[in-house]
Amino acid sequence: MADLNHILKTHGLRTTAIRREVMQYFLNEGKAVSHQDVEGAMPKADRVTLYRTLAALEESGIIHQVIDDDTVKKYALCGTECSGDHHHDNHVHFKCERCNDTVCLEDIKIPHINLPQGYSVDSGNLLLMGTCKSCA
Ligand SMILES: [Zn+2]
Ligand SMILES: [Zn+2]
Ligand SMILES: [Zn+2]
Repeated sequence: MADLNHILKTHGLRTTAIRREVMQYFLNEGKAVSHQDVEGAMPKADRVTLYRTLAALEESGIIHQVIDDDTVKKYALCGTECSGDHHHDNHVHFKCERCNDTVCLEDIKIPHINLPQGYSVDSGNLLLMGTCKSCA
């Protein structure tokens, strides 16, 4: 069980009930979730507070944006190496076309790609689509 207070503290965030609750939700889900998903799971929480909570967690390197083929923004928990200064989420994301879940494949790094001269990469994302292990 991850120590949520410790994670918040090492990322320079004060512990609040809502931050803990949102992080716990991410941990329980274990997949990329949207703002709407978080809202749906916490109907009593104030919308603006939830929005700010997600923004603070992203800015602090606790969650990262997951870009899949859905139009809604999704987020997932970061590995321990992310900080407020820099996200290091250079892993592959996998979207299952059967259950529609998108997950982080933390151990599968995005391969280095040789670009033409003059181009430099700041960030990237790689989405693979197919069938996940629960649906296989
Ligand atoms: Zn990150
Ligand atoms: Zn699936
Ligand atoms: Zn990810």
